[in-house]
Amino acid sequence: MSTARLHAVPGPTALVELYAEAPLPTRHGFLRAIVFREKGTDKEHVVAVKGDLRGAEGVPVRVHSECLTGEILGSLKCDCREQLEHALDLIGRSERGAVVYLRQEGRGIGLGNKIRAYALQARGADTYEANRALGFGGDLRRFDIAAQMLQQLGVKSIDLVTNNPRKIQELEASGIQVRRRIPSISESNPHNIGYLRTKRERKGHLLEHLDQKTSA
Ligand SMILES: [Zn+2]
Repeated sequence: MSTARLHAVPGPTALVELYAEAPLPTRHGFLRAIVFREKGTDKEHVVAVKGDLRGAEGVPVRVHSECLTGEILGSLKCDCREQLEHALDLIGRSERGAVVYLRQEGRGIGLGNKIRAYALQARGADTYEANRALGFGGDLRRFDIAAQMLQQLGVKSIDLVTNNPRKIQELEASGIQVRRRIPSISESNPHNIGYLRTKRERKGHLLEHLDQKTSA
């Protein structure tokens, strides 16, 4: 069977199109890797899928933005790796689910600029101040691409794993029904506590547990 019959055919306004798909045995169970490309470019995003999503309601989904420093280098400056592992573990234990992995490093500014921002942070700026000093908005990530990927996979509604209210709003504005929120697990440490507090205080992230954890 062709992938075109398994997945919805994208309309003329689609930003992404399905490029490749294969089974992927992982530490989190037997998943499928589905790669989408942004139309007219070679920019790729990937969805790790568990089970059959077509027509499914309340699918556990994490929409996760790439973080090379946290996920590959083991940086303690953020909580991306813990959140990604938690989400993969969750969908691996569920009947169905998906982790949409978006290649938008450093809140969308790219790896080199993220490291430049880290240099400013080493001199006292917070995440958002550092990005603005480099001429970028506080957060350039976009989630409409993720919404289209989920739509093309035939998902009816999702239970979104996130602490970020803006992500819920943007996915809904892009036509994805978010049935409920599943809190994303994040671990604080002495290097990322300032980053996590900034996310909570400036962007309204739902991280009520931070103060309890750090005072413990
Ligand atoms: Zn990170």
